Amino acid sequence: MSAAEAKISRIVTHEREKAALAAFSGDRALNYEENLLWEKEFSDSPGVDLPEPEGIKLRTGAPARDKVGLPQISEPQVLRHFVRMSTWNYSIDHGFFPLGSCTMKHNPRLNEKMARLKGFAHIHPMQPEDTVQGALKLQYELQHWLAELTGLPGVCLTPSAGAHGELAGMMTIRRAHELSGQSRRKIVLTPDSAHGTNPATAVMCGFQVRNISTRETGRLTVEAFKKALFESDPEGADIAGMMVTNPNTCGLFETDILEMADLLHKAGGYFYCDGANFNALVGKIRPGDFGVDVMHINLHKTFSTPHGGGGPGSGPICCSEKLAKAMPVPTVIKDGEIYRLETGEDRPETLGRLKAFQGQFGMHVRALTYMLSHGADGLKQVAEDAVLNANYILASLKEDYHVPYEGPCMHECLLTDKKQKEAGVTTTDIAKGLIERGYHPMTVYFPLVIPGTMLIEPTETESKDAIDRFISVMKDFAADVRAGKTEQFHQFPLSSPRRRLDEVQAAKYPVLKWSES
Ligand SMILES: *Cc1c(COP(=O)(O)O)cnc(C)c1O
Repeated sequence: MSAAEAKISRIVTHEREKAALAAFSGDRALNYEENLLWEKEFSDSPGVDLPEPEGIKLRTGAPARDKVGLPQISEPQVLRHFVRMSTWNYSIDHGFFPLGSCTMKHNPRLNEKMARLKGFAHIHPMQPEDTVQGALKLQYELQHWLAELTGLPGVCLTPSAGAHGELAGMMTIRRAHELSGQSRRKIVLTPDSAHGTNPATAVMCGFQVRNISTRETGRLTVEAFKKALFESDPEGADIAGMMVTNPNTCGLFETDILEMADLLHKAGGYFYCDGANFNALVGKIRPGDFGVDVMHINLHKTFSTPHGGGGPGSGPICCSEKLAKAMPVPTVIKDGEIYRLETGEDRPETLGRLKAFQGQFGMHVRALTYMLSHGADGLKQVAEDAVLNANYILASLKEDYHVPYEGPCMHECLLTDKKQKEAGVTTTDIAKGLIERGYHPMTVYFPLVIPGTMLIEPTETESKDAIDRFISVMKDFAADVRAGKTEQFHQFPLSSPRRRLDEVQAAKYPVLKWSES
C-alpha cells in the first residue's frame, strides 16, 4: 500500500466509526486529517515568484545547494493548513476545560484589547525609563494590587511562570537564611499531595525534601506536621521552610494552617505558599494573614491571562516585609513622581537578578485589566462562584463516583474511579470518553495520594448550562458502567483522528523530524 492509500484507508475507517457513532449526542472530537506542508500534493505552486539567481558567487566557497526543500505552496493553502491545525488545539475558547489545578478560565477580550494598545505593545525593555513611565506605573499598580490581595507587601513581577515563581520564592528564602547566618537549614517540608514543581524547586535550590503524609484526611494534620518538623532536630533548627498550597491539591482548605505556620516560624523556618490555587481565596482572605512569608501568583490562572499551549505565563512573587529585602531585583519603585526600576544598589541584600528585563509585560497588562474591571467586590465574587461551581459538581456526582474526602470542597473537586474500576473502567477510560464527547479531560491521576484520582475545576466563568452538560456526560458514563456497557470505554475516543496514543513512547521517543519514507 502506498503512503497515500494508507492515509485514505485510515480516513475511511474513521468515517465508518463516525457512522457507527451517529447515535451519540453532543460534540465530537477533532475531525480533520491534515498533511504536513511537505506532504502536500501541490508542490509546484509556490506563493512567491522569485527570479532564478544568476551569477551569484558563494562567498564561503561552499558547493551551491540546489534544493533547500521548502514546501512550495500558495498563500491560501498555507492559510488553510494553519487555520485547520489551530482547531486541533482544544482550548478554553472551544469549550469546557475542567483541568484541575490549572484554572482554565475565560480570558476576557478586554484584557487582549488593552495589551494591544500601542503604548504597551510597541515598547522595548531597553527604552530609557523616562519614555515608558506609563508602563512602569502599570507595573507599580499591579504590584500594589497583588500586595493588597495577598497581604504581603514585597512584590517582584519578574518570574515568568508559576514554577519560576517557586524558584524565585525558594531562592528568596535561601538568601534570607544566608543573610542571617542560617545556611545550615536544609530541610523543606512538603505534603505528599504537593504539585511536582514544589519538591523539584526545593531540590534545585539545594534543599532536601521531607514529605508530610496527608493520606488519611486529604489535609495536613498538626500531628503529622510536628512529626516532620522535629524529625531530625528537637528544635527544628535544620528546617529551612515548608512549601504548601492552600487550598491544597485535593481541593481542601488546610484548616490547621495557622497553627502549623506558627510552629514553623517558632522553629525559624519560612512558609512558602504555592499560590496556584489562589482562585479559591482571592478577595476573601489574604494569605499573609494565615502565616505565609512568600508565595507566587499564577497571573495566568487566577487573573485570567491566557495559558496552555506553552504560555507565556507569569508568576510574580509576593513576600513579607522581612523577606522583601532578599527577593530578586528589580521591582518598580516610585521616586517622588518618577517611576523607575530599582537596582542592586537600592537593595543590597537582594539575591540578584532572576532573568533579563522585567517579566512578561503583556501578562501584567492583562492581569491589571482583569483586576480593575472586576474591582475588589468582583474579585471576591470570583472566588465565591468558583467554589460554588465546584461544589455543584461534587454534589451532583457524589452518588455516581467515589468521593475520597468528606465535606464540601474549595474551587475544585476530587473524585476517583474506585466504583468503575470494579467493572474494569479506569480514570484513563473516563478521560478518553470525555474526549469522545467533546470535552477536555479533567486532571487525571493527580494528586498522587490516592489511586485513580480525577480533579475537576470548573472555574467561575462556566455557565450553569455548560456545567450541567458536563455533569450529564459524567452521569452517562457511570450509568453505562452500571449497565455493563464497559467495552466502549476501552475504545474511546472513537472520533478523533488519533485514538489512544502511546504517551510514554511519545514522551520518551518523540519523532520530531519528518522524512520521506
Ligand atoms: C500550575 C501549578 C503550578 C505551576 O505553575 P506553572 O505556571 O504551570 O509553572 C504549581 N503548583 C500548582 C498547584 C499548580 O497548579
